[in-house]
Amino acid sequence: MKKIGFIGLGVMGKPMAKNLIKAGYQLVVCDIVPAAVAELVSVGAVSAPTAKDLASRSDIVITMLPNSPEVKQVILGENGVIEGLRAGSIVVDMSSISPLMSQEVAKKLSAMKVPMLDAPVSGGEPKAISGTLAIMVGGPSATFEEVKPILSAMGSSVTHVGDIGSGNITKLANQIIVALNIAAVAEALVLATKAGVDPERVYQAIRGGLAGSTVLDAKVPLILKGNFKPGFRMELHIKDLLNALETGHSVGVPMPLSSLVLEFMQALKVDGKGKDDHGGLIQFYEKLAKVEVRK
Ligand code: NAD
Repeated sequence: MKKIGFIGLGVMGKPMAKNLIKAGYQLVVCDIVPAAVAELVSVGAVSAPTAKDLASRSDIVITMLPNSPEVKQVILGENGVIEGLRAGSIVVDMSSISPLMSQEVAKKLSAMKVPMLDAPVSGGEPKAISGTLAIMVGGPSATFEEVKPILSAMGSSVTHVGDIGSGNITKLANQIIVALNIAAVAEALVLATKAGVDPERVYQAIRGGLAGSTVLDAKVPLILKGNFKPGFRMELHIKDLLNALETGHSVGVPMPLSSLVLEFMQALKVDGKGKDDHGGLIQFYEKLAKVEVRK
């Protein structure tokens, strides 16, 4: 059985790492938060003091970190993964980062003949816990086939979408569609409410038609209760939309709707709501229209 190094034991990484242990893999773990490391050690993992040390003891290194700068530092920085890698090792970054950064890191690793996959996930903490994440993977086909059984211990859908970076391009597409969908739902429900129509009845009336969506069904019941506990924090969605704009601009694609919704979220962050669930985007419209969509 392959030995796995896992770096980044946050909201997502912790349950993902636990599912690998449940599947029988030996795990070496590392995080800057000692309590997160201790929790994994209590269920059978071994801790490593640095990413370099972790890599020297692993066949496969998985990272689940906040964003591009952390991934670059942990893999390429001082005492980083790159300093400890063995011949034949594989690096799998499962964070949602800029695809341009995935390509930059992979290029550095390829000089050492170490292949890399970018394999971001969708599904949030509940699906990380149940091991049913959707995982979208970029990188060499042979490496994907080698790592697929490991990814399958964390996700129920594991899809190879193309070369390195295409996992994160796919994740950005996902995040654009979700953000714009939430904004559309918010704008529509604020209109209905201020015009005097019960928003819950509007939801029930339209959810089976063309306007129905997974976003509508996931977010409207929470919005009607005023429940903006994350879920998926707005500040993480801001990060994803910034990465989408950077990528769009670098390949020559204007992103008018993404930039608009990004600024709505940014306004809420300035208003102290950056840690709310992204469904809390409706508060931006509510403030403009001076109405609350509640049941
Ligand atoms: P998180 O902030 O809870 O976890 C990140 C972990 O990385 C933390 O434990 C932190 O201590 C650790 N870390 C940061 N810098 C480090 C370093 N230099 N060395 C070692 N450890 C370090 O974030 P999360 O919610 O687990 O998200 C991780 C990634 O997954 C993000 O890119 C996020 O966008 C993506 N994602 C999150 C969700 C979600 O619902 N939370 C869903 C899908 C994808």
